[in-house]
Amino acid sequence: MIEVLRKIVQAVNDADDLAQALELIVHEVRAAMQTEVCTVYLRDRGSQRLVFRATEGLNKDKVGAFSLGIDEGLVGWVASRGEMLNLDDAMAHPSFQLVPGLGEESFNTFMGAPIIHQRDLLGVLVVQQSDTRRFSDAEEAFLITISAQLAAIIAHAEVTGAALAIDAPSQDVSRIQGVAGSPGVGIGQAVFVSPTADLGAVPSRQAVNRRQEIRAFRSALARVRDDIAVVAENLREELSAEDHALFGVYLSILDDSALGGEVAALIKSGEWAQGALSQVMIKHIRHFERMEHSYLRERAVDVRDLGTRVLTYLQDDAETRSDWPEHTILVAEEITASALGEIPRERLVGVVSLRGSANSHAAIVARGMGVPAVMGAADLPYNRLGDRMLVVDGYSGRIYVNPSQQVLERFQALMEQDLALTEELAGLRGELCQTLDGKRIPLWVNTGIIEDLAGAIEQGAEGVGLYRTEVGFLLRDRFPSEEEQRQLYREQLETFAPAPVTMRTLDIGGDKSLPYFPIQEDNPFLGWRGIRVTLDHPEIFLAQVRAMLKANEGLGNLRILLPMISAVEEADESLALIRRCHEEVLAEGYEQPLPPVGVMIEVPSAVWLTGALANRVDFLSVGSNDLTQYLLAVDRNNARVAELYHGLHPAVLGALQQIVDAAHLEGCSVSICGEMAGDPRAVPLLLAMGFDQLSMSAINLPRVKKVINSLTMADANELLAELIGVHSSHAVIRLAENLIERKGLDRYVRLNRDNR
Ligand code: PEP
Ligand code: MG
Repeated sequence: MIEVLRKIVQAVNDADDLAQALELIVHEVRAAMQTEVCTVYLRDRGSQRLVFRATEGLNKDKVGAFSLGIDEGLVGWVASRGEMLNLDDAMAHPSFQLVPGLGEESFNTFMGAPIIHQRDLLGVLVVQQSDTRRFSDAEEAFLITISAQLAAIIAHAEVTGAALAIDAPSQDVSRIQGVAGSPGVGIGQAVFVSPTADLGAVPSRQAVNRRQEIRAFRSALARVRDDIAVVAENLREELSAEDHALFGVYLSILDDSALGGEVAALIKSGEWAQGALSQVMIKHIRHFERMEHSYLRERAVDVRDLGTRVLTYLQDDAETRSDWPEHTILVAEEITASALGEIPRERLVGVVSLRGSANSHAAIVARGMGVPAVMGAADLPYNRLGDRMLVVDGYSGRIYVNPSQQVLERFQALMEQDLALTEELAGLRGELCQTLDGKRIPLWVNTGIIEDLAGAIEQGAEGVGLYRTEVGFLLRDRFPSEEEQRQLYREQLETFAPAPVTMRTLDIGGDKSLPYFPIQEDNPFLGWRGIRVTLDHPEIFLAQVRAMLKANEGLGNLRILLPMISAVEEADESLALIRRCHEEVLAEGYEQPLPPVGVMIEVPSAVWLTGALANRVDFLSVGSNDLTQYLLAVDRNNARVAELYHGLHPAVLGALQQIVDAAHLEGCSVSICGEMAGDPRAVPLLLAMGFDQLSMSAINLPRVKKVINSLTMADANELLAELIGVHSSHAVIRLAENLIERKGLDRYVRLNRDNR
């Protein structure tokens, strides 16, 4: 069964559009189940009716021309209940309804399965036959399995097909939903950056100069031929004549009379070389993969290998892109810090990542840079986007492909409003951050790259609550030396002096893997991460801390922060290493007291150890991004569970209050540096809980200050009191938003943007 399923899913995946995919589904499912009829009904979003969309066995003339109400007939029964129906005598069922002209009269056995994607009913898959026998349990299981698998493909085909329908760029059809990653709106041209030498990730693009593209292709081909000839020669002695002859076959795949000719023809018709190569190779790879014979099926691997080799040479030869459009929207399967760094900042107006979620590190970097971002946009037909125009709405997480004039005007107006708000908020820069009744609360910023600092200072930040040192490590191709680190840290400390700069020791693992120190794990967020890595590699930890201490010479504004502490031993060991470094640098002639050392509370075990940890260190900082993911068991990087990730979950709020109380009992100051600190809805609650500082992305600082400066502590305390006995995140969010609205602050917070 798995083999049949694989084949069907593969075939459907290869379809050019939804209509072709549905044709394939009914054809293949009917053949696999050996039934007389297979039909797909899809729910129409506008009319909410179930439209007869594809059939094998019934009257094809009715395709697209006939529909049922959502609870009409047996199909409606399946759709409205979201349940399977298996009948040996369909006509005897009370919901049975004969539709004249469909040709169903002689089929008395009926089985229908709902097609559901992420709780959303897409349609119904039906099989019918004329002999009066009930479909077996195994057939029932097959239909359920196939409809569950096809649901995702149909949903994807519906969205991508609509998004690419240039002739119908209405607001609804061209919209793709992802997860809001970084606030703001960006309008510009999509530029897809693909991982190197991945045939499946090459975008289709017009050739700028066809002759040049043909030449590049021929030269890459010649180099691959030479490589293979060398390998063949080296193996001449070791292989039998028969096996050796395979190299000849292998080479002939690239001949002009075979795939090479096809690629060249596609380039001549206007496609660029990489796109032509990828399209031709993928078509043939899929063809081989679908073959019955296992030997032939395995040849798909050879074809892929050949294609990848040619692509590698093509990509090596391609100049690094220097012609970024004036308004570039960077699209990538997974956005990396180095990809963000490649584009001139003034040209980058938006970011779209197919993977990841709101609190992925890529989103946090985009927020740090003040670039609107949408994450987890898995349905975006990225390799067919060309250089199309996109609108990235970083507030609601939506992307508009080929936006209509009307959509464009709406978003241009929003951008103007944003600009006006930014200018208005800039007036707050010189003001202290304090509530209307005088409670001061220092606002700090999170940084990662030096460029963040200018913006942070401009926004009036009073310190750096979290400097993510790993970003400096991610942008290199090897570990930075102690001296290189010292210079980097010195720049950070100097730029902000005398204000404090909290430097976190290297926090890699999870979704932050260094290209030169890869960590492969099944469960990386529960694996070798943060302090666990650096305690296992004291040489890395010691070099980093020494670099920090040396950088602090004569400035004295360094604070050291330890990530991912889950046990007191980790804190004790780290402190011992830090003291050792301190002694070493003193012995080298540096003069300075031991800087304050703190730990992050971001793992549930640390919540219950807050008192013990507070006793050992000088300050605590809550990492609410990780704390939320670990308390709720929701991967912060997975868009599929983004709906379940709530910093304002009552369990998270309970933990935060517990941390603040335990820290203060030990006389230890406690700040929060997760993204929650920059969420204006959460801020009154954090104030009421008693956090001593809030540290956030610079982009959020002005509006957080606006909120704090417009409230009294009584307002904040009242909101916190209202939450007693509230057990749902949605209820908490409603109450928090009510306060923002009552105070007339919603225009700074953009609460209702989801309704656009
Ligand atoms: C956190 O987990 O909240 C945090 C600030 O650290 P990071 O986002 O870098 O994991
Ligand atoms: Mg963290």
